[in-house]
Amino acid sequence: MPNTEPPRLPAHNTAAVETLLSLEQAQPCFWANPDRAPALPRVLAAEAAAEAAGISIDDTKAAVARFVRFSALLADLFPELEGHGVIESPLLPATALQPALNWADGSGALWIKADHRLPVAGSIKARGGLHEVLEFAERLALEHGLIAPGDDAQAYRALAAPKARALFGRYQVAVGSTGNLGLSIGVAASALGFQAVVHMSADAKEWKKERLRQRGVRVVEHAGDYERAVAAGRAEAEADPLCHFVDDERSLSLLLGYSAAAFHLQAQLGAAGIAVDADHPLFVYLPCGVGGAPAGIAFGLRQLLGPHVHCFFAEPVQSPCFLVQMLAGEGGHPSVYDHGLTNETEADGLAVPRASLLAAALMRTVISGCYTVRDATLFEHLAQVLDATGERIEPSAAAGFSGPGLLTGSAAGREWLGNTGLDRVLAHSTHLVWTTGGLFVPPQEYARFVERGRAGLAAHDR
Ligand SMILES: *Cc1c(COP(=O)(O)O)cnc(C)c1O
Repeated sequence: MPNTEPPRLPAHNTAAVETLLSLEQAQPCFWANPDRAPALPRVLAAEAAAEAAGISIDDTKAAVARFVRFSALLADLFPELEGHGVIESPLLPATALQPALNWADGSGALWIKADHRLPVAGSIKARGGLHEVLEFAERLALEHGLIAPGDDAQAYRALAAPKARALFGRYQVAVGSTGNLGLSIGVAASALGFQAVVHMSADAKEWKKERLRQRGVRVVEHAGDYERAVAAGRAEAEADPLCHFVDDERSLSLLLGYSAAAFHLQAQLGAAGIAVDADHPLFVYLPCGVGGAPAGIAFGLRQLLGPHVHCFFAEPVQSPCFLVQMLAGEGGHPSVYDHGLTNETEADGLAVPRASLLAAALMRTVISGCYTVRDATLFEHLAQVLDATGERIEPSAAAGFSGPGLLTGSAAGREWLGNTGLDRVLAHSTHLVWTTGGLFVPPQEYARFVERGRAGLAAHDR
């Protein structure tokens, strides 16, 4: 007898359809990843993730070691590092912010990973961007005998000498950016003596372009979005053998630079007495643009801390490119425009229409989910963060703060907590919001952000 029953969608596809509906209406939504590998033993989880991109935790260790080799040189080049040469950020307790976020009792404790304070670039891009520029400089310097394999940080100080600068000055480092990656690459490349070119998308903020021009970086303005700026930069660079193009959509070096953060965070968690295990899950909320920064960090954290770390990517309601990519699955590469969205957002660091396929492949079985947030909410959280903690973040960096509320308060979030059994240990959990940028936002611009947030909050109270 022929089978006349209609094909039944697996349960998670129903969730996917519901997520798509909210997403296309630009409503905030929470999506749990049905393909996340179950709580595998540490080693297996690490291997599964690594295979997707051909990288392993050893590559993350190599990135950490590279930062150490360059530390004395970085201290020489950037006075703001005050002699230490370490590009890192503090882990801050944020319980003071919980009341403003309507934190339910028994939901765990809120912490902030303060990448908005990262020196040199003022955003999370200091991690990946610097790493790629350093890796390129190191390769050239080794090829030309300016340093030797095995040299230590003191020997690397030679890379600030005239001979090295003359070598670097023959090369160009180029990048396409919505702003922050350009700031990071431009500042790092010009400090080493490279010619630096930054292709900026239309949504890049004027002050970011101005800051780069002041450092001798060539800024090329494009009328189109981030994707167009990257494509233009890539094409220009391909024609020039002396040009290194930092490809935000494809670069492993960027991703591994971000992943190095996991080692430092592991030490910070230990120092703060925060356990990560079956009874003490760690939820990490990461603002996501093309996906490289959050994927690098999630990759490192999952390998170092094991399966009880749950990473969620946060995106603006008009630019949920990573969520769209996760829903499409392997083989597809949709843009947010395909779903009737505009990619217009004040969160310039997240204004990306199409995800990195590298990041998506790597994250397929690693992230616990994605969610979206309205611009209005970003500004409200930005103001609340200032009031409760005194920290000054940019709108993109506020995307993490909606995460705990969606996880514990939305139907989809609660269902996931119930299905995974995490609802039973929620009271002992840690929620870590990664604040990704803000240090260099000009005071006047920042004041406008706060004003907008306050106006929004006041409207709720009426
Ligand atoms: C770039 C950026 C992100 C996200 O990084 P992607 O690699 O694009 O996903 C998040 N926050 C800020 C402030 C950024 O500049």
